[in-house]
Amino acid sequence: MAKAAWVNQDECISCGLCVENVPGAFRFADNGKAECFDPAGASEDEIQSGAIDVCPVQCIHWKE
Ligand code: SF4
Repeated sequence: MAKAAWVNQDECISCGLCVENVPGAFRFADNGKAECFDPAGASEDEIQSGAIDVCPVQCIHWKE
């Protein structure tokens, strides 16, 4: 199974970087925190470098 990213919303500070960099996979949920609404909406490389690596609180993770 492909890897899927998820956001630990308890730690997300709503900085918007992941949403801005990888809009195909991340958006803001109604609670104002980011969510990965489409894990297949961007390549693993895009999610890794555009979201996981740059999230200031490192709250985006892979789930196998
Ligand atoms: S980059 Fe991290 S802290 Fe910023 S909105 Fe995305 S998940 Fe939240």
